[in-house]
Amino acid sequence: GDEDLDTVPTPLPLVSTFHRERRWADTSSYAAKKKLQSWFQLSNGDWELGKILSTSGTESVISPPDGKVLKVKTESLVPANPDILDGVDDLMQLSYLNEPSVLYNLQYRYNRDMIYTKAGPVLVAINPFKEVPLYGNNYIEAYKNKSMESPHVYAITDTAIREMIRDEVNQSIIISGESGAGKTETAKIAMQYLAALGGGSGIEYEILKTNPILEAFGNAKTLRNDNSSRFGKLIEIHFSETGKISVLLEKSRVVQCMEGERSYHIFYQLCAGASPKLREKISLKIASEYKYLRQSNCYTITGVDDAERFRGVMEALDIVHVSKEDQESVFAMLAAVLWLGNVSFSIVDNENHVEPLADEGLTTVAKLIGCNVGELKLALSTRKMRVGNDTIVQKLSLSQAIDTRDALAKSIYSCLFDWLVEQVNKSLAVGKRRTGRSISILDIYGFESFERNSFEQFCINYANERLQQHFNRHLFKLEQEEYIQDGIDWTKVDFDDNQDCLNLFEKKPLGLLSLLDEESTFPNGTDLTFANKLKQHLNSNSCFRGERGKAFSVSHYAGEVTYDTTGFLEKNRDLLHLDSIQLLSSCSCHLPQIFASNMLTQSEKPVVGPLYKAGGADSQKLSVATKFKGQLFQLMQRLENTTPHFIRCIKPNNSQSPGSYEQGLVLQQLRCCGVLEVVRISRSGFPTRMSHQKFARRYGFLLLESVAYSQDPLSISVAILHQFDILPEMYQVGYTKLFFRTGQIGVLEDTRNHT
Ligand code: ATP
Ligand code: MG
Repeated sequence: GDEDLDTVPTPLPLVSTFHRERRWADTSSYAAKKKLQSWFQLSNGDWELGKILSTSGTESVISPPDGKVLKVKTESLVPANPDILDGVDDLMQLSYLNEPSVLYNLQYRYNRDMIYTKAGPVLVAINPFKEVPLYGNNYIEAYKNKSMESPHVYAITDTAIREMIRDEVNQSIIISGESGAGKTETAKIAMQYLAALGGGSGIEYEILKTNPILEAFGNAKTLRNDNSSRFGKLIEIHFSETGKISVLLEKSRVVQCMEGERSYHIFYQLCAGASPKLREKISLKIASEYKYLRQSNCYTITGVDDAERFRGVMEALDIVHVSKEDQESVFAMLAAVLWLGNVSFSIVDNENHVEPLADEGLTTVAKLIGCNVGELKLALSTRKMRVGNDTIVQKLSLSQAIDTRDALAKSIYSCLFDWLVEQVNKSLAVGKRRTGRSISILDIYGFESFERNSFEQFCINYANERLQQHFNRHLFKLEQEEYIQDGIDWTKVDFDDNQDCLNLFEKKPLGLLSLLDEESTFPNGTDLTFANKLKQHLNSNSCFRGERGKAFSVSHYAGEVTYDTTGFLEKNRDLLHLDSIQLLSSCSCHLPQIFASNMLTQSEKPVVGPLYKAGGADSQKLSVATKFKGQLFQLMQRLENTTPHFIRCIKPNNSQSPGSYEQGLVLQQLRCCGVLEVVRISRSGFPTRMSHQKFARRYGFLLLESVAYSQDPLSISVAILHQFDILPEMYQVGYTKLFFRTGQIGVLEDTRNHT
């Protein structure tokens, strides 16, 4: 190919969805006049390529490859790129940057197993849903010695390492995308590269080996992904020293999940893979005996052998030095969670108060966690409150009791998860000091928008809003630094800031999170009173809209999402009462240190919790949203001090099948995760750059009077700019490069191609 292809100028800005009509109109008449190849839209929304045969101004006749001839509105045509640009490996290289061209380019590559493409500084990865021959030692070697340069996770990881060494700055690789788009796999591929560089003895290998634990306890089958991570994960690899993993877990899945989905893998793996001896010891039955697992009517995953996976988890636990005894305790706690789900209640007085039935469920839980049945019964049917110096015992209604039971199950599980992460981190840190530089890999749940969106989506999307801000700020900074380095006269470019949306969440006291916490502390607060309060206070925020009944909408950077507040307060309070905490910390269960350390520290923090208001500091506990925000801020703070590298994963179809590329679905994700934006951003300001030398070489021959060729490239370049009347405000001359505003060298390029 043409060696100059990587600097093919860009005559047009990216067409963003908002002003597509205007921008496209400019170029479509141009395309029609020049009889260029153009995109036109089929009735199903897909784009097809055709050659323009004739045009009468407002209407054009176009012929798609199938030989038909169609009449279309000229203004609806979108110019296609010359064939020579088919499948370029960076979207920045497209002469015409518009949605169909981007879609086509990605699809062209995808069909050839080239699943990685650059979008300026960002790596786009499209899930192949099959093995592609892009990985392994030969590839790693090729990227290491730079004999391979096509876009790849290896290349990004390599850049991160080089920049870490060169600039002495910590790096991060931030992987985002929808559920099932390939984030976790991508993170593993990056780890592979790091592991190989470590020469096989490094910490990276150990981290890879601990993967089965975090996946078993933190992943579940959902409708969108058989192996969906229900937690965000930041793996921090400290070079030549140690690694560290931090996590944010979605807890609600322990006690509820949708039809066709599963709870965490580990429950099914345990039920399928436990030895008869273990089964007996922890009173384990088969999965379908447990209500928590039965509710979604799905026990297996096609192609996955849970029993075999269980053995993998046990091996991984050995690797991180969890003793056999502790492993057994972990399994006993899992069984306790399952049995808790089977505890049922009956009404005991005429005020509808309930007590748990003293059946197999209750007695087994008591046995497993090591308390007596009476204590457990009390913890599940009453609530102690302190008022002043007095303690009042309140009896629970059925729904309160069920909430208490589920809260207990969730917190046992999440303490277990935290404890395991701690063990993994401990084993990674053994004998190593934490100094030196690090690379962090962030694998976090992407933006979610479903038919019905609840508290989980609310948290996830809030986190993504924060990450998006990080993304924007950083890419702008990079851009501006290049201008400054090359000494050009530069005033700041504005970009789509999502600060308004973040304010909607974070503002005190009138923001979504504050209002949620406030309502959660009112004994009479309900999801409806919460929704009404939002409407009352937030209607003036342009990102907020009250909806009918208990719903509200937020316009996120990635689109508008309507949230149903049903269950918000309960999920936010995540009631774990003093009684339960005391019960667990006093019980003789196998892992008292888990509960001692984790639960009691939880309860020391400032209060949000409906019935603790009267209580002292010891009964205080953070709301889920507040804790989430705190963890998110910590995460962001850690990322803030790193140089980020972004990977955007894309899911090409909803059926997890290879070879199928649905344009509409891909487009929606490209818009959502801001890929088109970022290319636009990278091209705004002075997006086209060419070194003086290259510019002179490429266009020098167009000069009318021959400016002596002995002249230096800069003089030739300036002469060309004058001859073509390129206005001074449309370009900048830097120390090493010429910088152009979008579209400015289109004329040059056209003239060159037609000469
Ligand atoms: P979630 O947000 O639900 O955790 P995710 O983005 O982490 O989703 P993954 O679990 O990484 O998605 O990927 C889903 C599936 O897609 C994998 O189980 C695997 O089958 C397939 N897959 C993803 N990336 C690749 C790849 N590079 N090569 C082959 N298969 C892949
Ligand atoms: Mg994942």
